[in-house]
Amino acid sequence: MPIMKPELLDKLFKHLGENLYRHCQGVAQTAASLAARYGEEPERAYLAGLVHDYGKVYSGKELRRRAWEMGLDLDPIILAESGLLHAPVGASLLPRELGITDDEIIKAVTYHTTCRQGASILEKIVYLADLIEPSRRYPGVEDAREAAERDLHEALLLVVDQTIRRVLDRGKLLHPRSVEFRNSLLLS
Ligand code: FE
Ligand code: FE
Repeated sequence: MPIMKPELLDKLFKHLGENLYRHCQGVAQTAASLAARYGEEPERAYLAGLVHDYGKVYSGKELRRRAWEMGLDLDPIILAESGLLHAPVGASLLPRELGITDDEIIKAVTYHTTCRQGASILEKIVYLADLIEPSRRYPGVEDAREAAERDLHEALLLVVDQTIRRVLDRGKLLHPRSVEFRNSLLLS
């Protein structure tokens, strides 16, 4: 496990609370091992995983208030769905609240719920790690974990399909970025 500053870990634990902190640690560890496998820097992936849900502690109303306050330019689908909005808002808080200025990490956090066409390896890794970290329990997660050991592309296609199905089953808003990302995987 990469060495992180104790002050950062302490601050994150207080901010996220026990359960979300545990999830973030799981994502960090999973992202670091995916990074080692697929040619990214494990340390960077670990940090991105650790902070990916920084915005998740806020309500939809609070997220919208912060997005407005920071002048974020967000589309109506993201603004309407706190399951999506916590990503860009959390990412924008990283420089000012944690001193994280690595643009690649900020992007990986911004796009961690939908991924996107043209995503970097780091963005893909954080997106995937969020869905397969050890505490995740849902039908199909084992298949995704196994695929992640074999082939990044195959694992991404599996989890994006699962995610789109889950969004449809719950009658939630589907962001076009997820669809574009899926199509880009099929076309590549
Ligand atoms: Fe999240
Ligand atoms: Fe998460």
